[in-house]
Amino acid sequence: MRRYRIFSLALVLWASLAGAQQPAPLQVVVSFSILADWVQQIGGDQVRVTSLVGPDQDAHTYQPRPADAKHLAEADLVISNGLGFEPWLQASVRASGSRAHLCVASQGITPRFWHATDGAAQPDPHAWQSLRHARHYLHTIALALGQARPSSTAYFQNRLHQYDQHLQVLEQQYHSLTQWPAQRRRFLTSHDAFGYWEDEYGLVFLAPQGVSTEQEARPRDLVRLIQQIRREGVTAVFLENMVNPRQLAQLAKDAQVAPGGVLYADALSGPDGPAATYLAMMQHNLAQLRAALGPLPTAATH
Ligand SMILES: [Zn+2]
Repeated sequence: MRRYRIFSLALVLWASLAGAQQPAPLQVVVSFSILADWVQQIGGDQVRVTSLVGPDQDAHTYQPRPADAKHLAEADLVISNGLGFEPWLQASVRASGSRAHLCVASQGITPRFWHATDGAAQPDPHAWQSLRHARHYLHTIALALGQARPSSTAYFQNRLHQYDQHLQVLEQQYHSLTQWPAQRRRFLTSHDAFGYWEDEYGLVFLAPQGVSTEQEARPRDLVRLIQQIRREGVTAVFLENMVNPRQLAQLAKDAQVAPGGVLYADALSGPDGPAATYLAMMQHNLAQLRAALGPLPTAATH
């Protein structure tokens, strides 16, 4: 009798332990691929992540699909970038009837502002390109995951701490770009995705498109841009992974600018590409920038 009682007690204990070790993963839906990587890095085996906008796709101009409503309806947590990056998301969430907790990952960040052609100030949504802001995003994501699953808070915070070490190293490497003369730190790309690099790492990017890819540049803007490039010079032209390069390629030819390579702006690459994760993306972009900048000029002391 006593042996049976011990056995059944052990069985209950085993069942509860097994249950505690394997809760169903949190269903997290994110708007785009960089957030998907971040949620996976922090959430580990506690999350199942679905990204509405996939690798190499453009979130600015995304058209929601019927399958998105199903993912949103089943989500425990929905995480967006905010700052006007996903103008289509709010209506999709509402239409899906989703009851998920909503998290804006850029909350608390002071964005840089960009002036549209009509002169109105708009926040620049590409804050993830700043390592300083990235650290803030990750902190916000870890908090949101902890709120959705309080029993795993320590697990998320531990993974956040590990990941943050990598961000700090990368941030130092980006700051070292200011060793090159300011005149060389000037580039051309298709849309204004790298404004945060200007503020933080002293890199100037000229772009025919505005802060969003929604509008192609007008001919008179292009003429003005070519004049500016001829007057002030740029070191290289970079293509972007999710933007059609036709207009930029023509512009680079007209202005006689050297080709740089491909920068990953608003989306990761596929799993076999050079930017399958955020850290790989930032390392790839840094390598492209260093290659375009060339060897560090030695100080003229003689
Ligand atoms: Zn963009």
